Amino acid sequence: MPPSKPAVTELASYAVIEAASPGRVHDEPRPKARGEFQRDRDRIVHSTAFRRLEYKTQVFVNHEGDLFRTRLTHSIEVAQIARSLARTLKLNDDLTEAIALAHDLGHTPFGHAGQDALNECMAEHGGFEHNLQSLRIVDRLEERYGAFNGLNLMFETRAGILKHCAPAKARELGELGQRFIHDRRPSLEAQICNLADEIAYNNHDVDDGLRSGLITVEQLEGVSLFARHVRAAREEFPRLSGRRLIHETVRRMIDAQVTDLLSETMRRIETQAVESLADVERAPSLVGFSSEMQTENWALKTFLRGELYRHYQVVRMTSKARRVIRDLFEAFQSDVRLLPPQYQSSGENEGIPRAIADYIAGMTDRYAVKEHRRLFAVGEF
Ligand code: MG
Repeated sequence: MPPSKPAVTELASYAVIEAASPGRVHDEPRPKARGEFQRDRDRIVHSTAFRRLEYKTQVFVNHEGDLFRTRLTHSIEVAQIARSLARTLKLNDDLTEAIALAHDLGHTPFGHAGQDALNECMAEHGGFEHNLQSLRIVDRLEERYGAFNGLNLMFETRAGILKHCAPAKARELGELGQRFIHDRRPSLEAQICNLADEIAYNNHDVDDGLRSGLITVEQLEGVSLFARHVRAAREEFPRLSGRRLIHETVRRMIDAQVTDLLSETMRRIETQAVESLADVERAPSLVGFSSEMQTENWALKTFLRGELYRHYQVVRMTSKARRVIRDLFEAFQSDVRLLPPQYQSSGENEGIPRAIADYIAGMTDRYAVKEHRRLFAVGEF
């Protein structure tokens, strides 16, 4: 049978290829006009969980302003960076894009504060982890097809979505969990998505942080990566200020990180003599920054943690978010009848706490706030 998609550029010998894939859990006819990984990407884009990302927070609560990143725009930025990295490295860019677009599907409302709160609520019921939840969504929770639950994605897409996993959990996941038990690296396509995620959020948090006024250009000039590139932007455009200066700086930072990542990754692939997918799995992590960029990146992260994520205005917001999640969980647990019927019945199979976690994790920021009001505000129904 001819391949379903003619190769546009030749892939590297260590790229993931469709022909060698274990495929999907449920057999399906091959797509007529696209590759299997393109089909995965398309299924993700059409999923309900993907659309909900529009109203989920990254750092700033969704209704705070229209210009801040949401998880949807973040995921699109990650896919853009990941895809261009994959293309240059001659990797499978369709697979890379699918993983990138799906990487945050399992996030709760209110960013990491929401996930931490839900994880605490679930402490005695197997915990909650957004990575595992992303996999749960594509494997089971999406309801779109007549023949199966979930999206029935390709093995490599699912493996890429599952970034980390405790060994105890990994044993429950069968073939997909094997690499965590045997300490094998994921595909380069998956490794790229991890780093693209990091490049995207560090840089857009600088941009959003400045836009919000919680951090300033003067403060950031103490961070070498920013300082170097704001200087370069000013040299090229001496009269530039305000938003344009910030954009000229941030685009230079992203470019510097992407360029560094490419050359360091190619260097590692060569020095480790990587020639096949099996070599990738055995080698130490191949996708990474040079040690100089690693240091600069670390300094930027440290700055953002101290000055933005722990800014008192952000902390006020996250503490409120945590309370909303806890209140919702406790209300549903104390009276299961408050849950929508579909979650009451899924609770019969998987236990009520997991059904509650699925319901809460699926909420957008504004839905969670509304549901909290419906359950707790006197005079509101
Ligand atoms: Mg992300």
